[in-house]
Amino acid sequence: MKKYIKYRKAIIAVIGFCLLTEFGCVSSEEKSSDLVVYKNQEAPIDDRVKDLLGRMTLEEKVYQLNQVAFGKHMTANNIGGEMDKVSPLIGSIIYVNQDPNLRNDLQKKAMEQSRLGIPIIFANDIIHGFKTIYPISLAQACSWNAELVEQACAMAAKESKVSGIDWTFSPMVDVARDPRWGRVAEGYGEDPYTNAVFSKASVKGYQGNDLADENSIAACLKHYVGYGASEGGQDYIYTEISNQTLWDTYLPSFEAGVNAGAATVMSGFNDISGVPASANHYTLTEILKEKWEMDGFVVSDWNSVKQLINQGVASSDKEATLKAINAGVDMDMADRLYLDHISDLVKENKVSLNRVDDAVSRVLNLKFQLGLFDKPYVTVTPEYNRYLLPEYISTAEKLAEETMVLLKNSDNILPLNNKVSSLAVIGPMANNQEDLLGSWSAYGDAKDVESIYKAIESEFVQSKIFYARGCDFDGNDSAGYTEAINVARKAEVVVVCLGEKKSWSGENASRSTISLPKIQEDLLLKLSELGKPIVLLLSNGRPLDLSRLAPLSDGIIELWQPGVVGGKPVAGILSGRINPSGKLAMTFPFSTGQVPIYYNMRKKARPTSGMYQDITKEPLYGFTHGLSYSNFKYGDLKSSKTNLRKDENLIIEIPVTNASDVDGAEVVHWFISDPVCSISRPIKELKFFEKKSIKAGTTEVFEFHLNPIRDLSFVDSSGNKILESGEYHVSVGNQKIVINLLD
Ligand code: BGC
Repeated sequence: MKKYIKYRKAIIAVIGFCLLTEFGCVSSEEKSSDLVVYKNQEAPIDDRVKDLLGRMTLEEKVYQLNQVAFGKHMTANNIGGEMDKVSPLIGSIIYVNQDPNLRNDLQKKAMEQSRLGIPIIFANDIIHGFKTIYPISLAQACSWNAELVEQACAMAAKESKVSGIDWTFSPMVDVARDPRWGRVAEGYGEDPYTNAVFSKASVKGYQGNDLADENSIAACLKHYVGYGASEGGQDYIYTEISNQTLWDTYLPSFEAGVNAGAATVMSGFNDISGVPASANHYTLTEILKEKWEMDGFVVSDWNSVKQLINQGVASSDKEATLKAINAGVDMDMADRLYLDHISDLVKENKVSLNRVDDAVSRVLNLKFQLGLFDKPYVTVTPEYNRYLLPEYISTAEKLAEETMVLLKNSDNILPLNNKVSSLAVIGPMANNQEDLLGSWSAYGDAKDVESIYKAIESEFVQSKIFYARGCDFDGNDSAGYTEAINVARKAEVVVVCLGEKKSWSGENASRSTISLPKIQEDLLLKLSELGKPIVLLLSNGRPLDLSRLAPLSDGIIELWQPGVVGGKPVAGILSGRINPSGKLAMTFPFSTGQVPIYYNMRKKARPTSGMYQDITKEPLYGFTHGLSYSNFKYGDLKSSKTNLRKDENLIIEIPVTNASDVDGAEVVHWFISDPVCSISRPIKELKFFEKKSIKAGTTEVFEFHLNPIRDLSFVDSSGNKILESGEYHVSVGNQKIVINLLD
């Protein structure tokens, strides 16, 4: 009842605004022709922006370029005091709260207490869900199902929007090849093309067809650019990136997101060979805004303007501001430097008014596009209608099922027969809910997550299930081993659940080794001494060193951090209810010392020598590795022709037969390589992938429509596409077709 009264009050309040203020909505009697242009919903957005800009003072403009954060513990009771700290003129708030009523109160202040009634844009880090938490992005990439990822982002947008969020700082499309870097969890793996595909899918999901739609939020491509190259996998560190690598590795995922219409871009913390990303005119202005004609705006990363001082390219806050705004950063996140210094810099002619107007126009443009001027308030719905709706949960479940990767399956130990008499479920991850959510889990609640152990209990109703924690995630207390061994003794199969706490990956969560702590490894070692079949279930936010664990395990399933549906999908894979179809989007090195290792390294002078002498030269599980319960047999690769003009397209196909009695889904990855080129190119490059369901005993034909300029060209160090004639290889698995590109 209380909720209902609150809800009604909010509705009445919103209607009140609409009727009483000239800013809320246009009243029925007010004809659009009577309105000033910027308030006229029927006027084109560009005209509205221009009109509004013409009415703004420099101070009002500068406020639009600032984003402040609003505390986690803000409630209806303390909002008054908190609000006083924020000017109603402020451009944006990072809204760290899930109550739409509070957002409406903040918005009311902007609409009523600012001279021109410019709405605030509310932002938050909705990285893999708001309340319904989906698998982490690295896992999402392993589904190779861009449509499903788009759907999950659309649902996350809807759930965020009803809570008052207009703008998310997602997707992260930083290609990342060092698993020590905690933020690999937040992106789509090691490959530029894969990142580009998911960049586009998530932008489309968040933004929908129209930003003004009540289910859409603005996306933000981050962290522009090259942050994934952080040296040694440490965070907040420099990156050494040549222009060649910038263009061929780090920029494509951003370009794809911009082409998909991403409303904003976040400038990173890293420096690019000496020029910090947040003071980089070349990347921010020349590439992003001029070459790609991105008309949205650039927001700095948290304090990245002020950090220009730490990076040694500015001696004061004022100089940092000067560098950032002139490089192309339009909005300043958190550090408030723009607020303090831009007006003076304009007065001193160091920053042009044109530059300020350009930045402000970009911000206002998005506010108009989102419909914030015309509908500044969120319609408050009851909580049960807002969160964890059945369709969100089923999408989260489907996505989690498709993201999990069967890494090893010796002697087809999996799936376990449903009639297995008993299972021992052991390990620190076994009855854990919190860590299955992963980093950046917004308002996800561990209480809503089903643990692996509970899910196994529900899945294997006819089996006896024993549980022991065995040990903690780290430390050296092995007191629980004895109980774990006793429990394992009683069971037919031992399921060991190991992994990383959610705080071990994500931002500021780099690790010097990608092995699991010894206490966990030793638990598995002890259990393996019993000689029973061992299935290892792993939940983690980065590729791991499994060199000691893999030989001791008969089956291994990488379940990543699956989010709110938690253990159910992996229990289904164990029982065979679900046939795994995930494949790795990031290489699992043999050991930490092998890092960096990724499938698309450039060709080297001596291809078969020079590797580390003390370990294998191969990764433990390479890019795209992933097993299925089906047996997929690949037929012959066939090409419609082998001599090709540069302006011709080509269709290459391959039949894949499911030669088993289990329905499954297979992903076919299409690679190209260029044996001779004017620059040294990667050994192979992914150009297309497709996932299809293949019923038992049937065949599906997969096709790659090759377009020479798109698929065979390379970019030079200035970003020009170069297409050279000559021989190219197109490969799938271990088959290849040689194509001759004519002059
Ligand atoms: C992170 C961003 C994030 C921002 C706002 C920064 O520290 O690098 O990824 O969007 O904070 O929370």
